Amino acid sequence: MEPQRSPLLEVRGNIELKRPLVKAPSRLPLPGTRFKRGPDQMEDALEPEKKRTRGLNTVTKIATSHPRPPALTVRPQTQSQTTAPKVPKKTGPHCSTAIGTVLKNQKPGPAVPAQKPGAAPPTLGGKKPTKRPAWDLKGQLCDLNAELKCYRERTQTLNQENQQLQDQLKEAQQQARALGAECRTLEGELARVQAQAEQGQQELGNLRARVLELEEQLGTQQGLVQELQKEQVGLQEERRGLAARLEEQERRLQASEVALSGSQAEVASLRQEADTQAALLVEQGERLHGLEMERRRLHNQLQELKGNIRVFCRVRPVLPGEPTPSPGFLLFPSGPGGSSDPPTRLSVSRSDERRGTLSGTPAPTTRHDFSFDRVFPPGSGQDQVFEEIAMLVQSALDGYPVCIFAYGQTGSGKTFTMEGGPGGDPQAEGLIPRALRHLFSVAQELGGQGWTYSFVASYVEIYNETVRDLLATGTRKGQSSECEIRRAGPGSEELTVTNARYVPVSCEKEVEALLQLARQNRAVARTSQNERSSRSHSVFQLQISGEHAGRGLQCAAPLSLVDLAGSERLDPGLALGPGERERLRETQAINSSLSTLGLVIMALSNKESHVPYRNSKLTYLLQNSLGGSAKMLMFVNISPLEENVSESLNSLRFASKVNQCVIGTAQANRK
Ligand code: ADP
Ligand code: MG
Repeated sequence: MEPQRSPLLEVRGNIELKRPLVKAPSRLPLPGTRFKRGPDQMEDALEPEKKRTRGLNTVTKIATSHPRPPALTVRPQTQSQTTAPKVPKKTGPHCSTAIGTVLKNQKPGPAVPAQKPGAAPPTLGGKKPTKRPAWDLKGQLCDLNAELKCYRERTQTLNQENQQLQDQLKEAQQQARALGAECRTLEGELARVQAQAEQGQQELGNLRARVLELEEQLGTQQGLVQELQKEQVGLQEERRGLAARLEEQERRLQASEVALSGSQAEVASLRQEADTQAALLVEQGERLHGLEMERRRLHNQLQELKGNIRVFCRVRPVLPGEPTPSPGFLLFPSGPGGSSDPPTRLSVSRSDERRGTLSGTPAPTTRHDFSFDRVFPPGSGQDQVFEEIAMLVQSALDGYPVCIFAYGQTGSGKTFTMEGGPGGDPQAEGLIPRALRHLFSVAQELGGQGWTYSFVASYVEIYNETVRDLLATGTRKGQSSECEIRRAGPGSEELTVTNARYVPVSCEKEVEALLQLARQNRAVARTSQNERSSRSHSVFQLQISGEHAGRGLQCAAPLSLVDLAGSERLDPGLALGPGERERLRETQAINSSLSTLGLVIMALSNKESHVPYRNSKLTYLLQNSLGGSAKMLMFVNISPLEENVSESLNSLRFASKVNQCVIGTAQANRK
């Protein structure tokens, strides 16, 4: 049997049960429902009952204590419900028992109908009392007392019950108030929860959108991941390859390290050796320098022994189209050492035609013998000739002025000897290019011993005692702007040609370019004055400067290579026309300068106090290349033709005179 509970307790229990369901709003009572009522309203709801109970006395009160509907449900009350059913009329002690049972069980029982005033008193013990006789006043009194007692008891009981019910009501009201407060709290909570729910919905929406977005991103990322995976596979492959390479490299490195340590040991020993070598090298350098100085001394001694003035005779070959000379016209007798000795003698046979013609007998021949430092027969090559002068040229590097002349009649081969043959044939290269190449090469060798050389070239021609620059370029090219020979500075021994170019040279090509330029300049001049080149002296000069910075040594000397003007004389028997007069003047100028050259050499040889350098431009220009410390070489060029015999003899005689000269001991121009 279901235990009976107070309706308020039941509500409370329900609320208590519903509390955990706060987060399930759908199950909470909705606003406007019966739970919305506060405690006051609830009291109001109870009020009619109260009123009724007041009216209905105890029986009605008992009805209000019915557990379920009356207190909390708002049901329309029908008349039948509001009107308590009539209970059987009980009197006596049973009355209190019945009421006590009703109160005890809390069961809705039939309300006791209000007793109408004047109604019969309740019966006692359920038995209708026997009616006393009217006379039994005592008995009647006794009955009335009993009834009164019963009513008193009942009244007392009802009062108690009433008190209880009022307590209960108060309690219920308190509970109702508490419930109302709780309800408001819950409503607040509900509102908050709803707001939360709305927010949650919104968040959910956002989250859904975010999820979609993330899903999209995920798709992209997955694609990316696939790509990366592929890449990773490739990279792994590469990594494996690299690892293999690394391994290989490490292996090599190890091998290299082993080799390196070996090499380091080797390097250490090599360094030691290098130090030893360096010390040795210094020592060798010292020795080498000593030897070089000794070489220079001996070289000079040798040159002196050979003579500071040397004369070489060179006979050119017979050119195509020229008459072959009669056999024995030119002879090259062997020296004391036989044919192995280089020839130094030349014999010229000259037939005295006048004597032969007069006597009618074959013309007798006269032999003219000449002896020189060296004679070059017609077949001698340029290289052979240069070989003989190479040592002399080298003296210029050692600081001795060197001067080489080519003397002879026009067409005897002077220019060929000095500059070389036409056509750029290397075999036909003359002394100037060969000498310079030799100088550059020796200077480079000496560079290894600490010497530094510089070379400055000039090339002028002296025609009719006027000096002209053969290296002129630009507007001055080909024009005979006169140059002057001057001292380089006040008190200076050095001579310089004004208006002439001095060109630094360091290689053959530069020299070749200068020779080419000189040829062009001569060619331009030739158009205005025919064959002027053979009527002028060409002077190629190279100023050589050397320095040994380590030892503070310096040397400087000029190398002069001179292609002299044709030495031929004018035939005194020839009639003098206007052209010849000019020619005569040229010839006189040439002869004068050539004889001055001879005189200068003689004066130097004889150690005369006055040397007539200034008598000609040529000797003045060559002043520093002749004399005391200088070395001189004269080529006397001879034509092989019999028709030139007279001029050849003249040249040979002049050269012989020169050859007899000895210039004092040469001194190197050392500073
Ligand atoms: P020069 O300068 O004395 O007037 P060249 O040097 O011009 O004489 O020579 C005249 C000609 O003879 C030129 O054609 C030249 O090539 C030629 N010649 C001179 N010497 C020789 C030689 N040793 N070998 C070959 N040809 C030569
Ligand atoms: Mg010439």
